[in-house]
Amino acid sequence: MNILVFGPNGSGKGTQGAIVQKKYTMPHIESGAIFRQNIGGGTELGKQAKEYIDRGDLVPDDITIPMILNRLKEDDCKNGWLLDGFPRNKVQGETLAKALNDEGMNLDYVIEIVLDRAVAKLRITGRRLCVNDNNHPNHIAFDAIKPVEKEGKLVCRVCGGDLNTRADDQDDDAIDKRHNIYYDDNTGTMAAVNFFKTIGGGTKVISVDGTPSIQEVNDAIMQQLV
Ligand SMILES: [Zn+2]
Repeated sequence: MNILVFGPNGSGKGTQGAIVQKKYTMPHIESGAIFRQNIGGGTELGKQAKEYIDRGDLVPDDITIPMILNRLKEDDCKNGWLLDGFPRNKVQGETLAKALNDEGMNLDYVIEIVLDRAVAKLRITGRRLCVNDNNHPNHIAFDAIKPVEKEGKLVCRVCGGDLNTRADDQDDDAIDKRHNIYYDDNTGTMAAVNFFKTIGGGTKVISVDGTPSIQEVNDAIMQQLV
């Protein structure tokens, strides 16, 4: 079973992808990791990609897509794969669909986690990290894991420890930039998702509401994966 997974930053896409790949014992292939492997491993495509990255340019699709196809042809993908983080725009979606077709690889499912943009942003900016333990989740927007107030400040709901934020989670410009690409339904990632809804040919698009809990979102996905 071959699967593409889409969702904005903050939608829990990575978490859902990890659960799905565990259930079906298929590799969860993250596009960033493919770049790192090719560049780190010094492959021909990796060398070409590095030249673009070193110049601060985007790596063109005619380098990226062959890298991805090479990864999808590796032994551990024989029983299927779950690709995460690519395509990011409509042209990449169309090019990937054609390339998979040319390789005789069927795309069975496209999973789309649907989440309102403001909610997705709050999911990112509201995360709080306990200084004592990374496994003490706190989030200012979720009642179930809301930090508690002590002497006028918010502290870890589990242990009362101080809370930090990750710098990346508070970088408004970076979050907005990524969401601008994702939510663009003209040429961006949403346009790619919409393109996959039209291709038919055995590709089923599963759109699930990303608002409820991780478990509920996962149940909704699993109900539709056969
Ligand atoms: Zn704690």
